[in-house]
Amino acid sequence: MPAQFECFQDGCNFMVRADSDEEVVHLVQEHAQFVHDISLDSDTIESEIEQT
Ligand SMILES: [Zn+2]
Repeated sequence: MPAQFECFQDGCNFMVRADSDEEVVHLVQEHAQFVHDISLDSDTIESEIEQT
C-alpha cells in the first residue's frame, strides 16, 4: 500500500512517497539524519505516515 510522509520540521518541505511503510521509514530516517541531524525512531515516523 503506498505510503506518504511529510517532514514536520520547521521550514522543511521534504515529502516522500513509497510503496510500503518500511521504505518510507527508511527514507525518512536517512533524511532526518542528513538534513536535521536527528534520529527518528520508526514508531514516530509510522504515526505520521499517511496511507494514500
Ligand atoms: Zn526535513
